[in-house]
Amino acid sequence: MKIYADNAATTKLSRVSKEAMLPYFDTIYGNPSSLYSAGQEAAEAINRARQIIAKKLNCEPREIYFTSGGSEADNQAIISAAQIGARQNKRHIVSTAFEHHAVLHILEKLKKQGYEITLLDVHENGIVMPDEVAAAIRDDTCLVTVMYANNEIGTIQPIAEIGAICGAKGVLFHTDAVQAAGHVYIDVKAQHIDMLSLSAHKFHGPKGAGVLYAKKGIFLTNIIEGGAQERGKRGGTENVPAIMGMAAAFEEACAKIDGNTQKLTALRDKITEGLLKIPHSVLNGDSARRLPGNVNVCFEGIEGESLLLYLDAQGIMASSGSACTSGSLDPSHVLLAIGRPHEIAHGSLRLSLSEENTHEEAEYITEKVAEVVEHLRSMSPVWRDLKEGKKSYVIQ
Ligand SMILES: *Cc1c(COP(=O)(O)O)cnc(C)c1O
Repeated sequence: MKIYADNAATTKLSRVSKEAMLPYFDTIYGNPSSLYSAGQEAAEAINRARQIIAKKLNCEPREIYFTSGGSEADNQAIISAAQIGARQNKRHIVSTAFEHHAVLHILEKLKKQGYEITLLDVHENGIVMPDEVAAAIRDDTCLVTVMYANNEIGTIQPIAEIGAICGAKGVLFHTDAVQAAGHVYIDVKAQHIDMLSLSAHKFHGPKGAGVLYAKKGIFLTNIIEGGAQERGKRGGTENVPAIMGMAAAFEEACAKIDGNTQKLTALRDKITEGLLKIPHSVLNGDSARRLPGNVNVCFEGIEGESLLLYLDAQGIMASSGSACTSGSLDPSHVLLAIGRPHEIAHGSLRLSLSEENTHEEAEYITEKVAEVVEHLRSMSPVWRDLKEGKKSYVIQ
């Protein structure tokens, strides 16, 4: 059996998305900037894609900028807000300790350039408190950036509340919605979102395509200088096939939100229930306010990396920490941010499901994880110390 349960890392391209792309590789291959009809056909196509995405986010097509993915959109949003702030002598940014590295690393860079960054702590349930965001905003705050749903523990943030606070205080609000887009409903107007990032490959679209939504009137700073593409804000010939695939995938994913929420929540809760029967295990993040397909559990006394390798041998593809940090020995900054101690944070498992996963797979996963955890514990000196009472359990 081969089970893919790492959809927070990337997703399989959907058939609909693939078919939407195909004509733009070899039939309608003109450059959208060219004036002859083959170019204009491509230009019209990407404008249709822009309309589709804008409609789903409840914004205007001209507020949609195509990028190379979520990372670029995050970078451009934050750099733009920082530049707008600098022109008004506002150099303070509020964010959280559990953002994606695409956000955290650009904030670190801005800090070196003289910006002051407040990273809010996240509570044990993995939820950012709106009143703490409000309290962190100062007269010189130029941006609040809080992710919509966390990529490791799946917790969904009170975005509308945070957006309303920022709106009332006149501070720009950006959200990295890469994990949320296509999985939960987003309405940038109702949720008072000024800027938002999304990425096609997290909702069954192609890799290397994303969107920055920026409310009209927000002056964007170019990350890539070049031609006049994307209203002059993002140089470079548009990735037409990927843009078409992204729009088709987004439309499809949005249409499936209700059905998938129901299906994945049932699978998620079944797996979670099964895994928490393993002694000394704990769920990371709120049990209800999380993405329908996200399970993230810590097991005491084992290493997440070993767990993954053993699960891979059983045909299960999962993750421990984020894909970007695996390969390093640092524990996940997300698990540390919600207060998990180092020794526990190392023993985490993230399963992120899609509509292709089945109840049979959920049972297989639960059974195999229990077996592997038991096996790893039988070889673990840490576990022996815990059992012999030389150390005390962190997870009761
Ligand atoms: C995957 C991801 C990104 C990066 O998106 P890319 O398109 O891979 O650059 C950013 N933020 C979050 C929350 C993500 O999950």
